[in-house]
Amino acid sequence: MADGEFAPELSTEDQPAQRASWQASLPATGFYLAWAGLAFLSHLAGRTTLDPAAAGLLAGAVLVTNALLALLSLPTVREDSDEAVATAQAGLAIAWTTVYAVLADGPGELVPGMYLTAVLVAFTRTDAIRLRQLCFAAGGGYALSMVIRLLANGAGDGLWGEVLQCAGVIGMLTLLGRRARQTENDQDGLRDEVGRLQQEVERMARSAERDHLTKAFNRQYIMDALLREKARADRTGRTFSVCIFDLDRFKSLNDSHGHLAGDRVLTVFANRARRALRAMDAINPTRFRRALGRLGGEEFLAILPGTEVDGALRCAERVREAVARHPVDRELEITVSAGVAEYRRGETIPELLTRADQAMYAAKRSGRNRVRVSAARQPRPKATEPSRPSLRVVR
Ligand code: GH3
Ligand code: MG
Ligand code: MG
Repeated sequence: MADGEFAPELSTEDQPAQRASWQASLPATGFYLAWAGLAFLSHLAGRTTLDPAAAGLLAGAVLVTNALLALLSLPTVREDSDEAVATAQAGLAIAWTTVYAVLADGPGELVPGMYLTAVLVAFTRTDAIRLRQLCFAAGGGYALSMVIRLLANGAGDGLWGEVLQCAGVIGMLTLLGRRARQTENDQDGLRDEVGRLQQEVERMARSAERDHLTKAFNRQYIMDALLREKARADRTGRTFSVCIFDLDRFKSLNDSHGHLAGDRVLTVFANRARRALRAMDAINPTRFRRALGRLGGEEFLAILPGTEVDGALRCAERVREAVARHPVDRELEITVSAGVAEYRRGETIPELLTRADQAMYAAKRSGRNRVRVSAARQPRPKATEPSRPSLRVVR
């Protein structure tokens, strides 16, 4: 064995697990001792007899399998989660009870109690699904042992009594299983309800940050996102750009085609813009995602993280082109003008948005359906120069 592999000494961290594992074995050990004692008394009284060699083998097999189970469960058992171990113990008890029921000679009065206590070993320590499986296994085991004994020994005097006894126990186990199923259904219902509520909370959280018409982010969200982006840029030195989009001659479209058509155009614009921005994201997926928000009316703002002015210009061009490429509903020609500005370290959000707005108005003035960029990056003021004009009190 390699050094350190399967170290025989348990670390102090493993000791609670060791204690828990042996504690988890206590109920089963108690039941086995009670059964062995009762089986011995029954044997002495001549009611149910078991060949001493078979009894020895059975006791040995019970001991070995349970000790193995305790050892195997050692790394996993914790005081609060021994469900699997309890189920395995009960499963073993059911299997050995079935062996006993087949081997023992006599009316087998002990057998029903053994099956019931085997299920009880796991009753408070396992979930409803496993409990139902155990009830099923115990009922099946009992019926199987009856069939084997009948085939081996033929129908004896006490046959009907034993059949009745077996049917009674199977009935009780069925009731127990049904109760477990009810509990399981209740748990499923609760789980469904919790899942539904979680989805509802997520949906509400999503809708609280969206504009209900276009499903773009709402003004509040996109402005908060802008503040976060600026804080990140100031902290890390990574730049970002913004782009303001304004639909061209939207008022006259509203006037000529009605407000509903106007609303439809806004929705289509947001979809096309989002798709174009996502396509740019896909080109460079390691970048932070671009976000589109509605500032109000037919004005939208895109935040382009980690993007310098050249990239932002390409991005805005792509949106502009996607918007103008096809008419909306095959009849409404729409275009958009855009203004792009890259963040200058130290400037405020209103200053940045004003520059983007000015660029957008420049696009409008030069004929609409185009993108303009705010003046190229200006050199930073030297450290010795004051960053703003000093204040002068005007009386
Ligand atoms: P320009 O090309 O210079 O941008 O002209 P414009 O007509 O697009 O600009 P203007 O700001 O004069 O008009 C904006 C119009 O957008 C006015 C308003 O009726 C309309 N509008 C604002 N919000 C909504 C909305 O939610 N739905 C609809 N259908 N129209 C809206
Ligand atoms: Mg406008
Ligand atoms: Mg407009």
